[in-house]
Amino acid sequence: MDLTQKIISLSKRRGFIFPSSEIYGGIGGVYDFGPLGNELKRNIKKVWWQSMMKEENMVGLDSGILLNPRVWQASGHLTAGFADELVECKSCHKRFKKNEIAGNKCPECSGKLTKPRKFNLMMKTFVGPVEDNSSITYLRPETCQGIFVNFLNILNSMRLKIPFGVIQIGKSFRNEITTKNFIFRTREFEQMEMELFCHPKEADKLFDYWKEQRLKWYQDLGIKKENLRVVEVSKEDRAHYAKRQTDIEYHFPFGWEEIEGIHNRGDFDLSNHSKHSGEDLKYFDEKSDQKYFPYIIETSVGVERPLFAFLTEAYQEIKGGRKKIKNQKSKIKIKHEAEILLKLDKRLAPIKVAVLPLVRNKPEIVKKAKEIYNLLRPHFSSQYDEVGSIGRRYRRQDEVGTIFSITVDFQTLEDDTITCRDRDTMAQERVKIKDLVKSLKEKLENC
Ligand code: ATP
Repeated sequence: MDLTQKIISLSKRRGFIFPSSEIYGGIGGVYDFGPLGNELKRNIKKVWWQSMMKEENMVGLDSGILLNPRVWQASGHLTAGFADELVECKSCHKRFKKNEIAGNKCPECSGKLTKPRKFNLMMKTFVGPVEDNSSITYLRPETCQGIFVNFLNILNSMRLKIPFGVIQIGKSFRNEITTKNFIFRTREFEQMEMELFCHPKEADKLFDYWKEQRLKWYQDLGIKKENLRVVEVSKEDRAHYAKRQTDIEYHFPFGWEEIEGIHNRGDFDLSNHSKHSGEDLKYFDEKSDQKYFPYIIETSVGVERPLFAFLTEAYQEIKGGRKKIKNQKSKIKIKHEAEILLKLDKRLAPIKVAVLPLVRNKPEIVKKAKEIYNLLRPHFSSQYDEVGSIGRRYRRQDEVGTIFSITVDFQTLEDDTITCRDRDTMAQERVKIKDLVKSLKEKLENC
């Protein structure tokens, strides 16, 4: 099994990611995030949001998924700007993205291919009860247009001065021709975008600053430096709006691929929305008495690609099992089989603390463990597990990246202490129940 398959299997088995509407055979390119996947996703979004909000002059937005269709005229999405070249196999009728095919033959059956034609990636829908041409609109293929069309609202309501940034997290939809590689390319995904409005002369400097910031973000969350690279995109390959474009690429199990795009969008967006809407979207700079279209520096990333990268980076298989650090009193047997350890950053781990009674046939121990679980739940994302041997339960927690496992044993009944096992070192520490919340809060600072 290759690493992608192993991650798909773990994701399904342990409640991270399921194929959407699976009981009906699924729907191509859509995935559902299960209880643990949803926690992981929320943690990624939280860490991203916090890292953005640390900056001066940063504000957030939550705009609609549906926009006036004229937005997509102005943005260039209804014209050739947002279309992929599609080819179809004349024998098996499978469709492919032209730039993903090497040679002139169908990669599946070696049949002949049609000439490429443009295929718009936007998902069409209707607004209101009448389904005619005048009611057609689209599900947004990117979140940033909601920011651009609110430029004046945000500027005026928040009394901002340039440079300032607007961030947004939300669903985007693209009718991708091919979806493959699990959650790497899907038709419904969530984006985290930052649009920084600045003076044109400052754009280059800010572009470089943000490229560095974003690279640091991945490394700070556990992605190895050698698995990240920055690719300057040539003029021919750039998005239609970009003056300059750098892709941050990650070494996924299937090769180097874009994880995030950093763009200098110039004044493309504000000047085009001014033209199409008739509203003056220029900025008036009181100090210099100048009026101009601000340039926009954008950082744009889906939540799913980093999530995939974090899982890839964290996934470890330990052949023969992990060596246990000797604990004073427990008599835990470790079976020597391959064990999975998901070494996610503690801020990202979906479960922070698990509570495990040593045995489940001793009512006092079970009662105490449940009390502790109730004590921890309001403070940390926690789980209670009493099924199976304690060794197996530790492994189950390691497999989903749980940071601490609390074991309630016979000694607990005597002195009100528990053992707290650290996922990474497997060291076990005895902690008084009355100090437990405080001690975990210290260890899980910023989580
Ligand atoms: P690609 O070349 O891989 O199709 P793109 O250049 O079209 O990506 P952008 O339009 O720059 O991507 O989108 C910014 C980010 O949004 C991407 O770096 C990626 O993280 C995410 N993204 C875009 N399309 C998808 C998709 N279909 N599925 C998941 N994430 C996506």
